[in-house]
Amino acid sequence: MVHPAETLANGPELAGIPGTPLKVSRVAVGTWAIGGWLWGGTDEAESIATIRAALDHGINLIDTAPVYGFGRSEEIVGKAIAGAGLRGRVRIATKVGLEWKDGKIWRNSRRERILRECEDSLRRLQTDHIDVYQIHWPDHATSFEETADAMLSLFNAGKIGAIGVSNCSVDQMEQFRRVAPIHVLQPPYNLFEREIEAEILPYCKKNGIATFGYGALCRALLSGRMRENTVFEGDDLRRVDPKFQQPRFGQYIAAVARLDELAQRRFGKRVIHLAVRFVLDKGITTALWGARHPSQLQAVDEVSGWSLDAATLAEIDRILHETITDPVGPGFMAPPE
Ligand code: NAP
Repeated sequence: MVHPAETLANGPELAGIPGTPLKVSRVAVGTWAIGGWLWGGTDEAESIATIRAALDHGINLIDTAPVYGFGRSEEIVGKAIAGAGLRGRVRIATKVGLEWKDGKIWRNSRRERILRECEDSLRRLQTDHIDVYQIHWPDHATSFEETADAMLSLFNAGKIGAIGVSNCSVDQMEQFRRVAPIHVLQPPYNLFEREIEAEILPYCKKNGIATFGYGALCRALLSGRMRENTVFEGDDLRRVDPKFQQPRFGQYIAAVARLDELAQRRFGKRVIHLAVRFVLDKGITTALWGARHPSQLQAVDEVSGWSLDAATLAEIDRILHETITDPVGPGFMAPPE
């Protein structure tokens, strides 16, 4: 049984999305793994329980995408939320612009594709509007003007409540914004993947663009659960993720051990709490936390009510510098053009 007032009091803070009336929790549940694809499969009942558990932990934002399990993640979100009469309490963010066939994916942000995909997502999600609609990856074969104009028509028609883009540079956002506003950017961001700190995050702050940082736990590396002998099953993308290959994997695991020690010594917390606190205190609007078991969201309760001071941030940087001699970014996830 969920009691909204109580859970919001104890859960993550809320933040507004400038230019819209939307207020979202500063931690959102990400449902890529719930789609199964590239995560070694998934279990529907467990996934539905996870999405509903997110509400119990004060989360009011769910991030999904058509490509996650080729429709499966959105369908499960639809069953978990609309199927239980919870739509009014939840903000749904989904994406558009990746096409697939026979397990292969490619980018397509043409107008006609966007309009059709929106209808498909509405049907799978069992809803009449999408709160935040995001271009999943920039499509360089289509002009940003065409893509932005299609998104603007959905926004003006009330089918989407906020226009978002993902994995975009400042230059790409500039091109897009000549035609339509951007309310949300969804970039990769976690304690190990900090490329956006140089230009993208300052640009978003300056221009009133909310940021949903994805991979807050760096695909479970920052959960504290990973060991050097952890094995990934089936099509799990961590079998090819360059961070999870030795000898680099050992360096990241060593960093996590030291970060965990720091979190315990300074705050009585664990590395998973420190990792999410880190991205929030660096100024992103919302951290996307991927989960597929209800128990994985228990730790959300401990990310609010404290913050990282300058000395801790400096110590984090020192730990990363001393342990990770061969860092690598999240670029391996980019789908083909
Ligand atoms: P993530 O949040 O960094 O990691 C998620 C994984 O961490 C979970 O699947 C789980 O792995 C592990 N985990 C979570 N809670 C845990 C806990 N309490 N204890 C131990 N392990 C825990 O990675 P992500 O799912 O890739 O990113 C989050 C969301 O961002 C996605 O679901 C998606 O919505 C979005 N995203 C967007 C893009 C984009 O291009 N826009 C790209 C990537 C992700 P196991 O289940 O294996 O234990």
